[in-house]
Amino acid sequence: MSRETPAEPTGERPRLSDAASRDALQLIAEGVTELAGFGIAAISVVREDGRLESVAIAGNEQARSELEGTRTPVYRLLQELDKADDWGLLRFVPHERLDPSAGETWGWVPNIQPIDDGPDAWHPLDLLIAPLYDDQGVLRGSLAMDLPVDGRRPGEAQRAVLNRYAEQAGRAVLVALEREELADQVRMAQAARRIVRQATAQLSLERIVADSHEALVEGFRAAGMWIQTFSSGGGLGHVYSATGHAVELGPDLVTIAEAAAHEAWRMQQVAIVAPGRPFRRPINPEQGELILAYLSTIGVESLLFIPLGAGPECVGNLVLTRLPGGREWTDAEAAAALDIGHDLGRAILNARTFEREHQLVVELQELDTYKSQLIATVAHELKNPLSSVLGHLEMLESSPDLSGTTSGSLAAMERGAQRMVKVIDDLLLLSKVGDPDNPVIASPVDLSRVVDDVIDLVGLSARQKRIDLRVQLPSDPILAVGDADELDRLCGNLVSNAVKYTPEGGGVVVSLRREADQIVFTCRDEGIGMSAEDVGRLGTEFFRSSNPLALAQPGTGLGLAIVRRIVQRHGGRLEIESELGHGSTFRVHLRAA
Ligand code: ADP
Repeated sequence: MSRETPAEPTGERPRLSDAASRDALQLIAEGVTELAGFGIAAISVVREDGRLESVAIAGNEQARSELEGTRTPVYRLLQELDKADDWGLLRFVPHERLDPSAGETWGWVPNIQPIDDGPDAWHPLDLLIAPLYDDQGVLRGSLAMDLPVDGRRPGEAQRAVLNRYAEQAGRAVLVALEREELADQVRMAQAARRIVRQATAQLSLERIVADSHEALVEGFRAAGMWIQTFSSGGGLGHVYSATGHAVELGPDLVTIAEAAAHEAWRMQQVAIVAPGRPFRRPINPEQGELILAYLSTIGVESLLFIPLGAGPECVGNLVLTRLPGGREWTDAEAAAALDIGHDLGRAILNARTFEREHQLVVELQELDTYKSQLIATVAHELKNPLSSVLGHLEMLESSPDLSGTTSGSLAAMERGAQRMVKVIDDLLLLSKVGDPDNPVIASPVDLSRVVDDVIDLVGLSARQKRIDLRVQLPSDPILAVGDADELDRLCGNLVSNAVKYTPEGGGVVVSLRREADQIVFTCRDEGIGMSAEDVGRLGTEFFRSSNPLALAQPGTGLGLAIVRRIVQRHGGRLEIESELGHGSTFRVHLRAA
């Protein structure tokens, strides 16, 4: 470790993040200084940027502070090694071989005067270093030493000791780098998982993919990714690439991927497909070769295949790719990827449920619009001919010479036609009050007068059934905000139902009161009442109770549907209390004027 120093201070990255590795390397460096007779020893590791970074230094305080964390380009060391003597694991470059005019320098130059007493005297520019290689012969670090205590180049015995330290340093550097790499992977994959989890709050799959692809690609140091989702009935759903564009997978690959994803999900495992790596379940060798052949057509070398699912259900797969020359996929990455498979799986299920529900709502709305249009059209088309029928009936009924049978028939026909008119009017009103494009034109309405009119109208049938119809109205006008005709229909329908569904001799009470900024209209009867199930369905068009007592009364099931819609479009609230056999109470809250 001699000569002029081109080393640079390190960047922001902490030297070895793993404390145990740091201690092990420090111990080896100290062994070289304390036991092998050198003033200073430094262990460096090769970083991704092609520089050697010193990570453990022992000995001379001044050299330590100068060397700590410095980075030196690897190629400079390699240049020096070309000229070195081979001392086993050690390489020695005597200063005589150096050509200072060519700017050949490496490492740190101690500020000492060489002792000039013979060929084995140590010179400040001498270099003694053990390059540390991995099994593949790749340079991963170095152990360098300087300032021999005896001022001499090491002899045989000292070289043997140093070789043992070099051996230890080689192993320790590999372990340290591996641990660091592992910690790094876990950290990055966890960061990716956090971002993916945030992205999974989205309800559209496209958004989930768009929001998480960068985190996945960066966190896994992948070249790209795609997600394949399966439609619920099996087969291909969608394939989203990292950029959200469609990925073209042939039908063979789609089938292989889907089957593999299901099996991988059952096994709770990811799969790795890479050249030279044995294929394991869920991918057999034949399928593996097909996949590799496809990958080579898109310039990709290897992939990590992750099943996506939730509970027992596998809903798709995520593929992360690496280019030729990229790293190998590791177990730490595989484990983190499987967790992400769970997060994304749940998100896909959520997105799918949301999409289905959304679709269902759209369809129901379309159906509702269609139904309303149909009702309005049919009612409208019936109204004119019916008016003409009624007109002719009236004319015939006024003929002077009708027999008793004929006039009886005509009267029955007229009653039938009047009933049809009522149904048609209800249908037309239902479609009007259910039309969002036809809002309420509101003005103050005196509900006391509305109730009086209704009582006048229903009074006759109440008297016929000897029903005690009572009204409780305050003396002041009770003003609500709304459409007078619609509020009239609302009160009319509720009071006529109360009379209709109350047996002879029963009682009905209609009341009005003001409560803060609301008007409360109440219609209470001692009628046949309803089951809780029937109450739950009230207001659905054409709903009639299955109670025979209710069915004995004429009706269409439109009255309460109209009431419900009128209350709704007035921004009001309808409360219903009922007990089978004991009567019902309908309460309507409306905005006071
Ligand atoms: P209709 O009276 O024409 O059948 P409605 O929409 O007014 O239609 O009422 C729906 C159903 O609700 C009725 O068929 C009846 O079974 C039940 N119902 C409504 N009002 C009362 C009430 N006051 N007491 C008991 N049942 C009622």
